[in-house]
Amino acid sequence: MSIEIPPDHPRRISLETREMIIEGHQKHIVATAGLLAHGRGEAFDYFIGETTTEQSRHAVRAAVAAMLTAEHPVISVNGNVCALVPEALVQLSELTSAPLEINLFYYRKEREDAILKVLRDAGAKEVLGTHDRPSETIPELSSNRRKVDPDGIGRADVVVVPLEDGDRTEALRKMGKYVITIDLNPMSRTSVHSNITIVDNIVRCTPLMVEFAKELRTESKEDLRDIVQAFNNEKNLGKSLEIIVNHLKAKVVEDIGGSLEQ
Ligand code: ATP
Ligand code: MG
Repeated sequence: MSIEIPPDHPRRISLETREMIIEGHQKHIVATAGLLAHGRGEAFDYFIGETTTEQSRHAVRAAVAAMLTAEHPVISVNGNVCALVPEALVQLSELTSAPLEINLFYYRKEREDAILKVLRDAGAKEVLGTHDRPSETIPELSSNRRKVDPDGIGRADVVVVPLEDGDRTEALRKMGKYVITIDLNPMSRTSVHSNITIVDNIVRCTPLMVEFAKELRTESKEDLRDIVQAFNNEKNLGKSLEIIVNHLKAKVVEDIGGSLEQ
């Protein structure tokens, strides 16, 4: 880490996470637009209270259950995700038999190589979506993320697409995929169009997904399917928004409530 953040700093984790993104950018892992996407995430995290809510735990549990019941689950990796949680992703990938597939909006060979190295160093044995592999295209999309690996997202029934763009999420749904995302903004198009949205910071919820994967692995497929079926993403997003509104209301009372009454 290039700057030293005092251990008792009240916003230490947030600042350390930001440093990881900056470092990732310097190492060509994170695209410049990824810095802005992270900033948007930080703002929503502030609104949520920078904590994993019960609602997020509920979504994490359903997401992991969906991965464990899938025939071909896949985890899509972009620059920000790789800069923040490479080890947890590799663990989750192994526990759920979901291969990692690199998908970059702003493709550069240099970025692909940098991401591949980080994933390999984190223990990934096989990484899909690289340029030496065959590729298929998602219809209706014009960006670089149109390309998918036929052994990965191409044949997947369940795809985990953390920090994804709305267009691609919609396109994946149109292809009949069951889409799980992680997005701090419950109003983003990605959040709205996914089957399961984990409204949480990826740095907090990915290790939690690993914990749930360890726990749920031994459950029967039937019980896991029941967990997935009982999950309702509309309700989940509504409750997540409510959490934000209540948190902001509590802030108003706490910080400036008195003066507002006058
Ligand atoms: P959409 O296209 O889905 O409407 P968008 O254009 O607002 O979304 P993008 O820039 O495409 O957003 O993607 C970034 C998304 O990822 C944002 O919604 C942001 O809140 C979220 N995000 C950024 N960093 C994190 C993080 N660390 N954890 C979880 N979500 C994050
Ligand atoms: Mg977008």
